Amino acid sequence: MADQVQGRCLCGAVTFETDAVPTAQILCYCSDCQSVSGGPAYAAYLVPLANVALLSGEVSAFTVTAESGRQNTRKFCTQCGSRVWAEIPELSMASVSGFALPRGHFRPEGLHRAGNAPDWCVLDERLPAFPPEA
Ligand SMILES: [Zn+2]
Ligand SMILES: [Zn+2]
Repeated sequence: MADQVQGRCLCGAVTFETDAVPTAQILCYCSDCQSVSGGPAYAAYLVPLANVALLSGEVSAFTVTAESGRQNTRKFCTQCGSRVWAEIPELSMASVSGFALPRGHFRPEGLHRAGNAPDWCVLDERLPAFPPEA
């Protein structure tokens, strides 16, 4: 079994475990992520869907159809409302909130939908577009 990292919501009721090394980790500037995160981008820590395990607490879920047409089910703590991860079954991926993980663990490697960033947002020019062809 690969190394694991544990995450939690703001209140601590929800704890979970996932891969210590993600498939990818990116900043997503899509409109849905802005609405959910309350900021210009969401810290998306992508892992295989099967590799997120709830350890404690209770999560609720809200499903939307993204601009891509894919279903995206966002999971959040029923106590404090923190978004902990999202599930994208069509890609067999989960998008864990990078800031539900221990501070310093999330290190963005790419920018998704950077063209949707607000004009006051300073984008990190060291980071390539993700996926590369987008
Ligand atoms: Zn909570
Ligand atoms: Zn997004």
